[in-house]
Amino acid sequence: MSQISNISYIKFLKNSGVSVFLQNKPNNFFDLKLNNKPSEIIKEINSINNIDELKLFVKNSIKCQLKKSAENTVIGDGNEKAKIMLIGEAPGAEENKVGKPFIGAAGQLLNKMLDAIKLERNDIYITNIIPWRPPNNRTPTNEEILECLPYIQKLIEIINPKLILLLGSVAAKAILNSNLTISKLRSNWHEYSSINHIDKIACLVTYHPAFLLRSPNYKKSSWEDLKIFQKKIHDENL
Ligand code: URA
Repeated sequence: MSQISNISYIKFLKNSGVSVFLQNKPNNFFDLKLNNKPSEIIKEINSINNIDELKLFVKNSIKCQLKKSAENTVIGDGNEKAKIMLIGEAPGAEENKVGKPFIGAAGQLLNKMLDAIKLERNDIYITNIIPWRPPNNRTPTNEEILECLPYIQKLIEIINPKLILLLGSVAAKAILNSNLTISKLRSNWHEYSSINHIDKIACLVTYHPAFLLRSPNYKKSSWEDLKIFQKKIHDENL
């Protein structure tokens, strides 16, 4: 409605005897919470073209309580031009201190896993579904995963990988939109696409290295997954 038709509409209401509106308070369109309207968030996300802009968006626009307790926002690490992306769950204690993903005990095991399939950290880009450490490393809630989804989807769009390795059930749930267990999802290729990333990206799911540290019996299965991943890298000439 234009300003003029707004004014004539209000005049019409007044002349018809309407003197009160049903709200107790007028809308405050400058209220920060209204900046969170889905249409505005979508506009903001669409205007992001690089990781620096994404960092600003994460800092200013993602509403997630985990931000408050975290020491650092952990975005990603590695080669931004890589064709291979690894996605974990959320930063742990060490990552929270330093601001880089997978540098603690799980990261050390991950480095060995990568080494076994002849990959270096600089051959890949690595990140997490959630950029803030959940208190006491608890599993992020569904609500927290949903709040951070625009961030990780945009990061995938910027990196534009050909293959994604999803580490653990939180990454699998968020990216594949599936509640199936790792044992059901692993060893088959899945496809990821989003509204802004129509080209399908091949995704493989495997156990999270932190889980493998607690349950070394699963290392054999994880090695089988890594071999499937390595074969695809070879077949696609990546
Ligand atoms: N676990 C994760 O999922 N990500 C990290 O960065 C560290 C531990």
